[in-house]
Amino acid sequence: MINKERLRDEFCKLVSIDSASFQERKMADTLKTCLTGLGFEVTEDNAGKYYNGNAGNIYGFLKGDMEGEPILFSAHMDTVEPSSDKKAVVQEDGTITSDGSTVLGADDLSGVAAIVEAVRTIKEQGLSHRSIEVLFTIAEEVYIRGSEVFDYRLIKSGEAYVLDLSGPVGTAAIKAPTLVSFTARFTGRAAHAGFAPETGIHAISAAAEAITAIRQGRIDEETTVNVGTIEGGLARNIVPEHCILNGEVQSLNHDKALSEVDKIEGIFQAVSDKRGTVLEFETSFGCIAYEVGIEHNVVKRFEKVCRELGYQTDYIATFGGSDNNNFVRNGITGIVIACGMNEVHSCKEYTHVDELEKCCNITLKLMTWKE
Ligand SMILES: [Zn+2]
Repeated sequence: MINKERLRDEFCKLVSIDSASFQERKMADTLKTCLTGLGFEVTEDNAGKYYNGNAGNIYGFLKGDMEGEPILFSAHMDTVEPSSDKKAVVQEDGTITSDGSTVLGADDLSGVAAIVEAVRTIKEQGLSHRSIEVLFTIAEEVYIRGSEVFDYRLIKSGEAYVLDLSGPVGTAAIKAPTLVSFTARFTGRAAHAGFAPETGIHAISAAAEAITAIRQGRIDEETTVNVGTIEGGLARNIVPEHCILNGEVQSLNHDKALSEVDKIEGIFQAVSDKRGTVLEFETSFGCIAYEVGIEHNVVKRFEKVCRELGYQTDYIATFGGSDNNNFVRNGITGIVIACGMNEVHSCKEYTHVDELEKCCNITLKLMTWKE
């Protein structure tokens, strides 16, 4: 089967390459060289230029000798911060962590490493395989921007496996939410807080009242609301003129997400009117909800592969967006599979060589599965 030591070493090497969102150049070059060496036709798009980043999405195609449509495998190249000078520390029991001062980047380099090692194994052992498409994206961590601007006319596959999910390997997300972010700007009137406070209109106070007037947290079993940042005021002795709130609504039900945002805007407007501030309310879509049926071939193939490997499967709804939201939106039926990452987006992030191996075994089997 796969070469576990080589997989671990590849993972550690990838971790040592810093690739913050929009700064994926070195990672992109490394993966381009790697894919080309494995026989892929490789191209890089200009998503980097579009966003003023330094690298584009990396796409590769490897012709197979097996019947059937090509299958797309995808993972993202960027990691969240803090990530500068990160390195993988392999513990005696096989657990892999960072040195504690950065994230590990198993999100999503565990996925990248699994794809690379699976193809290496195919090449090394001369295994029959389907035509394989690979897409390594930029800027997934900032509202899936890289995959948003990819030219999907290049993709030949109708089905995709996105290796980008935390939790036990064998878990797959078949459902993901719509994510709407909003920015609310309250504008009041500045005044000297000591001499003439009554001539001011307190923007922070109005915004605070607006926040407490809406429902936050879990609104129902498929919808959440969060105001995540608040910013305003200039100095201790000035009645603040401006206050800006940033928040988001997520729902597995697209229409519910829209109506919840409308509701929030309505409440903010009512509070703003009452307090005499001016409200500007802007929204933008992070991603759009999808659901892949359990009977779809992309799920069934995953199920068969895991069963053959003796791995337990679990199908869940994820509460974070991923590149798969953009794939589904562009007509590709994909699911997001767990690739051995835990406590992601924190300096406690870790993986385990056994989990990396399991994910790689699944990937290899998916690539070589005879329908
Ligand atoms: Zn990720």
